[in-house]
Amino acid sequence: MSYLFGPVPSRRLGRSLGVDLIPRKSCPYDCLYCEVGPTTHQTLERREYHTQAIIQELQDYLRGPAAELDFITLAGSGEPTLNLGIGRIIRAIKEMTATPVAVLTSGALLYLPEVRLELAAADVILPSLDSAIEETWRAINRPLPEMSLAQIISGLEALRREYQGRIWLEIMILKGLNDTEEELDALRRVIQKLAPDKVQLNTAVRPVVEDVAQPLSLEEMQAIAVFLGEGAEVIASCSRTAKAEAAVSDARFLEMLARRPMTAPDLAQVLGLPLDLVQQRLKRLCESGLVAHSLYQDQGFYRSQLHASVDSVPQI
Ligand code: SF4
Repeated sequence: MSYLFGPVPSRRLGRSLGVDLIPRKSCPYDCLYCEVGPTTHQTLERREYHTQAIIQELQDYLRGPAAELDFITLAGSGEPTLNLGIGRIIRAIKEMTATPVAVLTSGALLYLPEVRLELAAADVILPSLDSAIEETWRAINRPLPEMSLAQIISGLEALRREYQGRIWLEIMILKGLNDTEEELDALRRVIQKLAPDKVQLNTAVRPVVEDVAQPLSLEEMQAIAVFLGEGAEVIASCSRTAKAEAAVSDARFLEMLARRPMTAPDLAQVLGLPLDLVQQRLKRLCESGLVAHSLYQDQGFYRSQLHASVDSVPQI
């Protein structure tokens, strides 16, 4: 089992080694726009998920001919703070390397003092907040019924008070859902109170769980950034261009699949590409015999058929 993915080129984090802290897919939310897929285990219950194995794999990776990294990013096929070992993993990374640690989180568990304490050693925390209005928050993030938006916002406020590192707040803007004046006004008020170091605006540019999650244009996103105030920036490319796909070579696909079998959504996430484009490329690689497809527990996995250096793989 591999818990590491990448390094992945990330617009926000540069060259980032991803660490998957949570099995697919445990999360307190079931967001309309989730690229991982529907939440199969919706929970607030924190558990130990392979902490020692994750630390061991990181140790082995960092002892090897380590690639240059800008960040080690704790994320997951779900909410990473559900892993009770997250604090130990951050501290272990800090002992192994000077590479800064980032945590991508929904922010759903930040109301717990122990979670904030465990994240204290991270260099950057990137929590999400998609709406400051309860009804819209429920419609977009589809939280567990016992959760409340007031609790989420008070968790973010407590993080801001206690945490010494940087906070980059991510907001997913969806057409007709949280792009109205009332919504943006409410968000702006919360942002002013939270004073995050950055506000990063995203929109649903990749295939998502529900079609109702529709993207905004770049111009609309930029106008919202201006409205939300200084420090707000658009991080979505706002276009599903073939350019991004072309920039990822066949060799890169084969390199990822030589490391471990992966599903098409996994690859799309790791490579930062739209799922449909990844599926088309995999179809072509399967037809040429370079990649094999098999079913495991009802999921389709792809594996590279090449064991030689992928540098020598010709472009097909
Ligand atoms: S919080 Fe993240 S992982 Fe959880 S459902 Fe939303 S987008 Fe998916």
